[in-house]
Amino acid sequence: MVDRILHGDTRAVAQAISLVENNVKESTDILRALFPRTGNAYRIGITGPPGVGKSTLTNRLAKHYRAQKCKVGIIAVDPTSPFTGGALLGDRVRMSDVELDEGVFIRSMASRGSLGGLSRKAREAADILDAAGYNIILMETVGVGQSELDILRAVDTTVVVLVPESGDGIQAMKAGLMEIADLFVMNKADRPGADQASASIEFVLGLRPHSGQDWQVRIVKTHAHEGQGITEAAAMIDQHRSYLQTSNAFVERRKKQLKQRIQEIINEQLHFDFWIPERTAFLTQQIEKVFSRSLTPYDVAQKLIAHFKQPRGK
Ligand code: GDP
Repeated sequence: MVDRILHGDTRAVAQAISLVENNVKESTDILRALFPRTGNAYRIGITGPPGVGKSTLTNRLAKHYRAQKCKVGIIAVDPTSPFTGGALLGDRVRMSDVELDEGVFIRSMASRGSLGGLSRKAREAADILDAAGYNIILMETVGVGQSELDILRAVDTTVVVLVPESGDGIQAMKAGLMEIADLFVMNKADRPGADQASASIEFVLGLRPHSGQDWQVRIVKTHAHEGQGITEAAAMIDQHRSYLQTSNAFVERRKKQLKQRIQEIINEQLHFDFWIPERTAFLTQQIEKVFSRSLTPYDVAQKLIAHFKQPRGK
């Protein structure tokens, strides 16, 4: 399978991602074998509130990169995405045009019912695509909830999509989107208020302390539905990419991501090892005593940790 992935076999890619998604043990062996061949793809995160046009924009960007002869991988981790939850919203955009393109691989990963570790899985799916020779990986995720935002820790450029109505762009910034945005896209610029909403975001961006060498976050207006502003948005992504690559920032960012990733692997493994049925049962048993205040949460936690630290067989 590793060999087939490295040769860009899309069926092998799809199978490997399924193994990752289903937490099949062998997936770690595959990822380990692929890892030395990763790191070449440029990863772009597209996030924002539901309905702002993330999928439409992703679709347009995919086409843009295809026109530049790039192979494009799309990972949509979004409970509201037409890829994952389209049946709920009949009028949502479908990506049929890029779906038929052999140079585009689309995979949706739903957060619903997932066994956790969604951000890890999305990142691993991106690695598989990376090793398979996809040059650009677009990771689309709705900008709500921590696990969705965690996914963005795996990307090189983060695009936050807003619309004039979310003109309370300031609100979005409070929600933590400000910190993660490398650029803002004001989509649905065909609607009234787009200029004003963009201007208010620009104003807030201008207030941020900024040294001459830092990347200056900017905003670009698009009408993704009609394909307007896509060239400009892509140009700005390119500028961010050049900024990263000509400064230390790219290497620093990727090293930081690798560090976080190792921590995440450890946390997940420890969590898995800790919560064996025996300890879960013990916890359930003790709740009554904690409820009646004859035990504190700290006592119970301490007992469980002590049990975890005990050498096996005791
Ligand atoms: P997502 O939930 O953020 O992925 O949003 P979608 O891409 O599914 O788009 C939601 C709706 O907005 C769809 O009906 C799109 O056709 C529509 N839409 C997308 N881009 C634009 C735009 O630039 N202008 C307008 N007026 N509608 C748009």
